[in-house]
Amino acid sequence: MEIIFCGTGGARFVIIKQLRATGGFIVKGDANIYFDPGPGALIRSLELKQNLQKLDAVAISHAHIDHSNDANLIIEAMTNGGKSKRGMLIGSSSSLEGNERFDRVVSAYHQKLVEKRVVVKAGDKLSIKGVSIEATPTKHDDDSGVGFKLSSRGKTIGYTGDTEYIPELGRVFSRCDCLIMNNMRPAGSPYPGHLDSELSIRVLKEAKPKKAIIQHFGMGMLRAGPEAEARLIQKESGVETIAAKDGMVVRVEEGKSLVDFE
Ligand SMILES: [Zn+2]
Ligand SMILES: [Zn+2]
Repeated sequence: MEIIFCGTGGARFVIIKQLRATGGFIVKGDANIYFDPGPGALIRSLELKQNLQKLDAVAISHAHIDHSNDANLIIEAMTNGGKSKRGMLIGSSSSLEGNERFDRVVSAYHQKLVEKRVVVKAGDKLSIKGVSIEATPTKHDDDSGVGFKLSSRGKTIGYTGDTEYIPELGRVFSRCDCLIMNNMRPAGSPYPGHLDSELSIRVLKEAKPKKAIIQHFGMGMLRAGPEAEARLIQKESGVETIAAKDGMVVRVEEGKSLVDFE
C-alpha cells in the first residue's frame, strides 16, 4: 500500500489561510481509497498527479469541513462526472445522514452516484477488492466520528481520525505497520477532542505500531514545528515517528522490512 498526503493541515486558521494544504490522503493498493477529502482535495490531488477516476472508495471520518469539504467533487471524479455508477462511499452517520447538529456533508444527489453507500460506526467491518477496512472509535466534537484501520496483504495501516486519547486506541491500533495520527496540537497545549503530542505518546506506548506519522496540524503545532514534535514523540514513545509534509508519499509494502519512507 502507498499513502499520498494531499494535505497535512487541519483546524480553523490553518484551513482558512491554507498554511498547510487540507486535502486529506489517498491510500493506493489493491483498492484505491480517498480518506477525508477536505478543502482543496480535488486541486491538491490533481497537482500530485493522482487519477481520481481510478478511486474505488471515498471514506469520510466525520462531518467537520476539514475532512469533507471536497467529498462531492471527489465523488464526481470517481464516477466520471456521475456517468458511471461506481465506487463506494463510506462515512460516519453525521457525514452521510446528518443529525441535529450537522447537515449531511455529501449531497443526496452525490450519494446516489456511487455503487454502494455504507454508514459506519466504530467496530463495523467491510472489504473492498480484498482490502479490509474497520471503523475505529473516537472521542471528538462529532460524536459519531470514526477512524479507520486498513489491512491488505499482511500489512496494516491505522488512521486515528480526529480524537482525543481513549484507552481503546491502544488495542484497536495494536501493532499496526503504520499509524497515521491527527496530532493537532504540540506538547503542553491540550485541546478537548484532539490529540496533542503528549496524548499521541500515550497512544503509541500502548499501540506499539512499527511506525507513526503525525499530520492534521493546527496553528500551534506549526509554530512549535512538526519535526521537533515528531522527534519528541519518537524519543518518549520509542516508536519511529515522522511529521507528514504536503505531497509526501509513504510505502507500506510486503516483503520489505517494515515501512519504507520516501
Ligand atoms: Zn479535523
Ligand atoms: Zn473534527
